[in-house]
Amino acid sequence: MNDSDFGHTSYIALGSNMGSKERHITHALELLNGDPAVRITALSKMYKTEPVGYTDQDFFLNMVCCVRTSLEPDKLLDVLHKIENDLERTRTIRWGPRTIDLDILLYDDVQSDNPVLTIPHPRMFERAFVMVPLRDVYNSGAIKNKPLDEIIAGCADRGGVVFYKSVEMSDLDC
Ligand code: ADP
Ligand code: MG
Repeated sequence: MNDSDFGHTSYIALGSNMGSKERHITHALELLNGDPAVRITALSKMYKTEPVGYTDQDFFLNMVCCVRTSLEPDKLLDVLHKIENDLERTRTIRWGPRTIDLDILLYDDVQSDNPVLTIPHPRMFERAFVMVPLRDVYNSGAIKNKPLDEIIAGCADRGGVVFYKSVEMSDLDC
């Protein structure tokens, strides 16, 4: 595929709070970049984050990556669901936190209210565990003229997001 075929930009959030969290995230990144229609162009740092909502569960690791892709949003979501399924297959089956969660945060300037795929992701602006890693890779620094710093300052969970480690493309097996 030519470079010009990767015509769309999307930001994808990754989270894991079960088992080998770091490995689940790096494995998901490898599988994502391994898709012939997707290329990762930037990686956030990895953050350790306190659970939000249902708090009686283990801490999370979170990242955000920027991709260029030829896939339309629904096809990109299919790729994310396939990766989620592939990684969950390795877990011991029991109800509980998931090995990996992959969400589309932004896709070009698309706005979609469809519950199957809502873009921008409906809860991203309230979640420091999403916005802090997004800030690492989101070059323009503002969404709809609102600086990411300002959005993060309004997130109740911002105190629960701490730097865990840097991840480079060269750390990934792809
Ligand atoms: P959550 O991410 O809220 O913890 P799930 O990962 O189980 O929950 O996702 C539930 C559904 O949310 C998915 O089946 C998907 O169709 C839908 N969804 C809506 N918008 C998005 C989005 N932007 N990214 C990923 N999934 C989305
Ligand atoms: Mg999800």
